[in-house]
Formats: sequence, C-alpha cells, structure tokens
Amino acid sequence: MRPEPGVRVTLINPHPEAQYSGMLPGLIAGHYSEEDTILDLFKLSQACGARFIKDKVIGLDPDKKTVLCARRGEISFDVLSINIGSQSPTPKNLEIKHGLGVKPIQTFQNKFQDALNKMRIEGRPKRIAVVGAGAAGVEVILATKHRLEDCSNETRPLSHRYFLVSSGKSILSEQSGKTRQIFEKELKKNQITLIQDFLVSSFERNTASTKDGRSIAADIFLWATGAVGPAWLKSSDLGITEEGFIRVKANLESENFRNIFAAGDIAHVRNHIRPKSGVFAVRQGPALTANLRRALQNKPLKDFRPQKRALAMISLGEKSAIATTQFFALRGSLVWRYKNFIDKRFIKKYSDLKPMPMEKSSGAKAPQSPEMRCGGCGSKIGPNLLRQVLAGLPMMSSSEIVIGLKKADDAAIVKAEPGKLGVHTIDHFKQFIDDPWTLGKIAVNHALNDVFAMGASPKSALAIVGLPLSAPKLMKNDMSLLMRGASEGLAENKTVLVGGHTNEADEINIGFSAYGEVEERAIIRKTGAVDGDLIIVTRPLGSGVLFAGAMKGLTKGRWISSTLQEMTQSNAYASNIFAECGATSLTDITGFGLVGHLSEMIQGSEEGATIFLEEVPFYDGAIPLAELGIESTLKPENIKIDHLATNKVKTSTKYQVCFDPQTAGGLLATVSAQAAAACLNNLIESGYLKAAIIGRISNVSGELRIC
Ligand SMILES: Cc1cc2nc3c(=O)[nH]c(=O)nc-3n(C[C@H](O)[C@H](O)[C@H](O)COP(=O)(O)OP(=O)(O)OC[C@H]3O[C@@H](n4cnc5c(N)ncnc54)[C@H](O)[C@@H]3O)c2cc1C
Repeated sequence: MRPEPGVRVTLINPHPEAQYSGMLPGLIAGHYSEEDTILDLFKLSQACGARFIKDKVIGLDPDKKTVLCARRGEISFDVLSINIGSQSPTPKNLEIKHGLGVKPIQTFQNKFQDALNKMRIEGRPKRIAVVGAGAAGVEVILATKHRLEDCSNETRPLSHRYFLVSSGKSILSEQSGKTRQIFEKELKKNQITLIQDFLVSSFERNTASTKDGRSIAADIFLWATGAVGPAWLKSSDLGITEEGFIRVKANLESENFRNIFAAGDIAHVRNHIRPKSGVFAVRQGPALTANLRRALQNKPLKDFRPQKRALAMISLGEKSAIATTQFFALRGSLVWRYKNFIDKRFIKKYSDLKPMPMEKSSGAKAPQSPEMRCGGCGSKIGPNLLRQVLAGLPMMSSSEIVIGLKKADDAAIVKAEPGKLGVHTIDHFKQFIDDPWTLGKIAVNHALNDVFAMGASPKSALAIVGLPLSAPKLMKNDMSLLMRGASEGLAENKTVLVGGHTNEADEINIGFSAYGEVEERAIIRKTGAVDGDLIIVTRPLGSGVLFAGAMKGLTKGRWISSTLQEMTQSNAYASNIFAECGATSLTDITGFGLVGHLSEMIQGSEEGATIFLEEVPFYDGAIPLAELGIESTLKPENIKIDHLATNKVKTSTKYQVCFDPQTAGGLLATVSAQAAAACLNNLIESGYLKAAIIGRISNVSGELRIC
C-alpha cells in the first residue's frame, strides 16, 4: 500500500464487494454467512488511497487509452490493468429463467438465494442440475445438496433430485485418477446422478440438449462450465485468444499494446499456461503491481514465472474436503479445517483496513510549482480544459434558453413563462466521496431539491465547480466525470445547464444555482400544516453518519452503495405527487436534519409536531454506525434545537440520527390524514421505496415531540 507519487489509482467494479470464490461452496452449503466471504472493495480502495468507481466496463479503446463504463462513459488511463476474471460459457439462449451461471460469482450468490427462496415457497421436490464437472461444478452440486438437505428445515422433507452433467467421459479432468475416484464415490454416496459425455449445445425452457438429440430436464440449471472472456473485449483491438482471454507476455503486458496489463483468469500468459484458478491469480498480484509501477516510471518490465502446479482443496459439501495434487489426495475434516483457516486468514488480511489519510493517498495532487499561483483571475481553471470538457457533454436545449452554453455570452438569458413566478436557489458542497461522477449527480439533486420543495419545476442551472490543482490529465478527467454526472442529473430533471464558474480549490467542490418556475397558486410553502395532518418523508436518514463513518474506515461499501443510489434519485416525481395530493407544507431535509427542518415547518404557527421514531426510515448501516458513536460534525449543534423527548427515547440511537445532517435528503411534507395513505402508495410505486409516514401535526403550538 505504497502510493506512487503523482499517480491516481482507480478501481472500477460493478459491485462494492468481491465474493471470494474459495469460500463460495461453503457459503452455498450454509457453513458461512455472506459477510464471511466477501472483500469490501470500497474499504480496500480507501486503505490503498485509490478511487473506487462502482460501474461496469463495457468497452476499451487501447489507442485512445480509454475504457468505456456503462454509466459514466469514457474514463482515460495511462496504464491499465484488466483483472475481470472469467465467465461460464453457456449456450446462447441461456438467458431463460431456469439457468444460473456460477460465474461471475458476484452475481451468482443473490440469484442462487432467490432460487432457493422460490423453491421454498413452491414447496415441491425439484430437479437440480449442475452443468460442468470440473472442481467448481463438483463443489457446487455437493454444496447445494448439503444446503437443501441438512441446513434448511423448510426444504428437508422434500426429496430433490440432483444431476451433475459432464461433457466428457468423467469428472475433474484436470485432477489425478485417485481424486476422481474419491469424488465419483462421493457423488454415488450422495445419490447425485452423473450424466457423462453430455456436451450441452442448446437450452430451451428447462431442458438442455446435446447435438445428437439427447436431453435432460431440470427445474434449476447451474452452469459451472469452465471459463471464457467477456464479449466486449472482442470488439477492442487487444490481442485475445479464441475463448476471449487477453494474450499477455510473461511480464503480464498485452502482446500488442504497451501499458495494458492483465492477470488472473482473464490473462492468457504466453509460455505459462495454467489452470484458471485463484491460487495462480493471487500469485501474479505482486509481479503485476511491480510491473505497473515500472511502467509508470518508464522502467523496463520484468518477466514473472508462475509456479508449475498448485495444491487444490476441493470441498465435499459437508465440513470435509480433499487436498490434492498430481501425486496425492488427502481427505477429511482436518483438510476442511485447514482450508477454512487459510480462507478466513485471506479475508481477514483484506478486511482489517484503515483508510489512508488524504495527504498520503495516490494522485491526490500533482507536485506543485514552488511559485505561488496568482488568484487574480478568479482562480479559474484553464479555458482549454473547460472547453474540452464542455464539448464532450450532451447539450440539452430548450426554446426557453435565449442565451446559454451553446451561444455563450457574458451571462445566460432564460425566457420566463408568462404568468409564472421565478424560483431561485443555490446549494454547494465539498467532496464527501471520491467519485466525481456521482458527486456531480448528487450536487444537482441537492440544489434542485429546494426548487421541488416549493412545488416548482426547474428550468436552468449554473454550475460552480472547484478543482484541486493537479496534472492537467487528472483535472480534465475529474472535471469531465463531475460534469457528466451533473449532466445526467440535469437531463433527468429537464433542466438546462446555461453556464457556470470554475476555480482552483483544495478539494473538489460543486454546487448549482438553479432557476425554476411555478404558478403562484401552486406554490407549496414550508409552513401551512394543520392539526391532524400526517408527516411524510421520501427517503431515509443517516447519510451524514455514513460518510462520517467512511472517513474512519467503518462504513461498508454496500451501505455507501445503497445510500448513493437513493441520493442520486431525483425528488421531482415526489414533488408532483405531493402537489397532486394537496400537501399543506413541503420542505427538503438538509443540514439541520429531520428535527431541524420539521421545527422550521411549525415555527410561529399554531401547530406542533410529533415524530414516531419507530416509523422513521434510516439508511442501511446508519444505526450500527451511530451505535459506535459515529456522528457528523453538525449533529451536536442540530440536537440543541428545541424539542421534547423522554429520557428513554433519548437513549435510542434512532433518536440521535434524527439530528443527522443530510446531503440531497428527502422531501418532508405534511398531507391531510385522508390523503396520506394514497400519497404514500403513490410515492412507493414511483420508486421512493423507503418513503414513510413518520409523524403527525398536533395542535400544541410550537411543540416538537419525539416519541
Ligand atoms: C465455485 C468456484 C469455486 C472456486 N474455488 C476455488 C478455490 O478454492 N481455489 C482457487 O484457487 N480457485 C477457485 N476458483 C477459481 C477462482 O474463482 C478464479 O480462478 C479466481 O477468482 C480468478 O481471480 P480473478 O481475480 O482473475 O477474477 P475474479 O475473482 O473473478 O474477479 C474479477 C473481478 O472483476 C470484476 N469485473 C468483471 N467484469 C467486469 C467489468 N466488465 N467491469 C468491471 N469489473 C468487472 C468482478 O466484479 C470481479 O470483482 C473457484 C471458482 C468457482 C466458480
């Protein structure tokens, strides 16, 4: 974990966690919880001073030096390392509901769990087939049987039938004869039917067939059919094998492109072909790191010679396993315990991690010039960089924008719709996650929330962006990602970016001044609630706690991931729904937390409010983190707001999080008791899945009670 000066390391992965395959059979069998078997990529990146981007790479342009991400678009690189593992090859029409690929294993576990739940609900015996009789297939069928017959009381009485489908004459073709014999006996003992010489060539409904017309029917097919590379690599110019693996030299660099590396399952190393196994992948790690550093320093690369063979440990469903090489095979519970020890040690090594301080992290800043930079130009970012970034943005247009970014002038001019009132607002924050795209999108929501909270519709926005001084390439990358995220957010809200201002800053910051319009009669004020109204919130609380926890390395990647998902959702529909159901007051929750903003809603009125603590929704992870004493800097100030609560309530962690400041928080509305249930239903159906009725307006003037 030694950052390379001036280098930004970015890890791109569609999942915040990586499932450790060595423990997957144990997870399927029920010996481990999901938590025991995962590596938290968000925390790992924090500990390495790397940026984590939750996205899927779907393309590569080796000449342009860009990878194409599904959400964010292009991201440029100087040196690229592709370690995307492999996939199970399956017949083309596998996408039918009964098939489930073991690889990629990240997505397998959830789908497998869903399949088990479905079986439980249906409650009838099933035929379960695993296609592929290598180590993974054998482990998966034995583990599945163990899970269904020993662990799950709900399914135990059912006598499922199990099939292992092998394309060859036997199973475990890469293992010794002795190992094969042990496993063949094991399959018999478990009454698993072995179907040999069955190369699946098509798959229809729940039937797999061979070319010569033989077929097998099953309710669930699990595919553990070896490994291939993803389709998108084929359309890049990178040299790949027929199966789609990247051809690399012994130094792990692509055979036909400099500074593009590959390791693990996806790599096909010239003169060193090895089985697709984690043991070999892990050993390549240090050699890959060293060569990535050499490439960045323009030093000659070094070849890596992998070990010739590795000890395989294959589990038997129950807590027993076989350790095997070409020369021997040892079986028993002791082997399982040894495997369990190694696997747990591996997970622990990458779990007990502390975030790297910003000043140490890689690429945070390029070496600064010793001369002081003048701020006389408004500390603006260079015009070339800005022009390039803006040129790459999808420009929305509207007949109401008289002068905007397309025909830029000294200021933007927006046509006001006759009879409507203009709504102006501004909001701005500094970086709280190291992912500019998401930050840009959230900044839009954060600013537009104020427009929505007035019952208005946004029309245009001006951006204000601060970027730390670093290498021009890094600044351009950051600026494009920020503005692409923002553009997506603005487009979703039908809001046109009409201008902005950039400046140098110590850390990334971004905000928007938004303009919207509303008919006078449609304005929804912050005040106006009446006795008996119910209080509705559209999104959970606790983002402040989660980001405070992240700075200490305590927040899990999955919590951050689900929270960001909510924060990037626009409140536009919610605002419309509140307008339709005649909300009596409306605001958005930001820096003062739920209690602070609710107290503003009743200030100076005849009404009071009661919050029902048990009804308040919280982001995943907010309560466990708050229980550890994690709180945001603003919270101690927020809790001083006048309110009433019993001592018992005050000891509750949920009570504490009601004072947590929010970024891009939910809308908070009051709705008549008659309209509230329909309003809530409508919100949930429109995608505000955690929206909730959390309290009631009372007739005790100015009293805010939490119970
Ligand atoms: C059931 C099973 C059991 C196994 N047991 C063992 C064992 O006990 N011992 C052993 O040595 N090997 C085992 N293996 C093999 C082992 O899983 C692989 O060899 C190993 O995981 C390869 O490591 P990798 O880093 O190359 O790829 P992976 O571990 O597959 O990691 C690839 C990563 O890339 C990410 N990714 C994929 N596509 C994209 C994309 N387009 N954009 C961004 N990110 C992407 C994935 O999310 C994933 O995090 C097992 C395999 C299976 C299926």
